[in-house]
Amino acid sequence: MRYDAIIIGGSFAGLSAALYLERARRTVCVLDTAKPRNRFTDASHGQFGHDGSNPLTMLATMREQVAAYPTIDFVDQAAVHAVREGDGLTVSLANGAALSSARLLLAFGIVDQLPDIPGVAERWGHSVIHCPYCHGYEFSDKRLGVLNMSTLSGHQASLIPEWGPTTFFLNGGMIDPNLDADLARRGVVVEPARIEGLVGEGNHLSAVRLAGGRELPLEALYIGPSYRFSINIAERLGCAIETGPLGPIVMVDEMKATNVADVYAAGDITRMGHTVTFACGDGVMAALAIHRSLVFGRAS
Ligand SMILES: Cc1cc2nc3c(=O)[nH]c(=O)nc-3n(C[C@H](O)[C@H](O)[C@H](O)COP(=O)(O)OP(=O)(O)OC[C@H]3O[C@@H](n4cnc5c(N)ncnc54)[C@H](O)[C@@H]3O)c2cc1C
Repeated sequence: MRYDAIIIGGSFAGLSAALYLERARRTVCVLDTAKPRNRFTDASHGQFGHDGSNPLTMLATMREQVAAYPTIDFVDQAAVHAVREGDGLTVSLANGAALSSARLLLAFGIVDQLPDIPGVAERWGHSVIHCPYCHGYEFSDKRLGVLNMSTLSGHQASLIPEWGPTTFFLNGGMIDPNLDADLARRGVVVEPARIEGLVGEGNHLSAVRLAGGRELPLEALYIGPSYRFSINIAERLGCAIETGPLGPIVMVDEMKATNVADVYAAGDITRMGHTVTFACGDGVMAALAIHRSLVFGRAS
C-alpha cells in the first residue's frame, strides 16, 4: 500500500499533523520510537488547557484520539533511511521493512547533548532545566544558577534574575567582557570555579560542588545544551540545513515545506525556539500544506 503521507516521529508535531490529515480522509502512517524530548519531566508547562500536564500522558491521550480514525497506521519502528522513488518516497525501517508514500513529514525531534558533569543527567527536566518559561515559575525566588556552556549562556544568566537570585557558573571558562556590565546591573553573581558535581536527594538539587570541595547552595541549575537531530534522514534527503547557535535547523517555508519536493518538516528540528505549542502548530501547518498539495498538486 502507498500512503498519502508517512510521518517520521509520533510526538507533538507528528501527531498534530496526523490528526489533521486523517480528518481530511487521507491515509497516514506514523513511525515512532516513543522518545519525545521532554520525557524526562513530570510536568509540561505553558500549553493551552494543559499547563502542568504530564507529557507522556498528553501524548498517550493524543495517540488514542488519532488512532480512532480509520485511515491511520502506527508502526512503532525507527525510520533509518528515506529516498525518492518515482513520484513518491520510500522509507526504510530498522526491522528491514520499507513503506512508501506520496508525501513525507519529518518530525523526529532532536537529542540534547548534556554536559558531562556528575549529577546533571539524573536531574535533567527536574532541577536541571533549560527553559525558564517551561519550568522557571516552579523555582520562583529560589537560589538559581546558570551554567556557562556557550556564548548564549551569558544572555540566559542576565534573564534568569526575573525568577530569583542568580549565580552564573563560569565553570573554569571565560566571560564575554561585553556582558560584565549587564550581569552586574541584573545583580548576577559570577562564580569562576570549575564545577565538580551536583548535590541533592534524588532528582532534587541542594548545592553545586566546586573545585576544591566548596559547596554553593542552589535549587535549580539552568543549562543551554547543544543538540543534534535524532536521525540524519533530512541531510541524506538533501534538505537545506542551517547551523543555529545550539544545533542544526531544517530550513522550511511558512507552510513547513523543505527545499526537497514532497518533503515537509515540523517541530523542534525546524526552529530555534522549542515548545510543545510551537511543535503542535507546526504539525497542523504541515498537514494543511500536505493536504493541499495532494489535492491541487505540488507548488512548483
Ligand atoms: C527536559 C525538557 C522539558 C521540556 N519542558 C517543556 C515544557 O514544559 N513546555 C513546553 O512547551 N516545552 C517543553 N519542552 C520542549 C518540548 O519537549 C519540545 O518542544 C517538543 O517535544 C517538540 O516536539 P516534536 O514533536 O518536535 O519532537 P519530540 O517531542 O522530541 O518527538 C520526536 C519523536 O520522534 C521519534 N523519533 C525520533 N527518531 C525517530 C526515527 N528515526 N523513527 C521514528 N521515530 C523517531 C521520537 O521517539 C519522538 O517520539 C521541554 C524539553 C525538554 C528537553
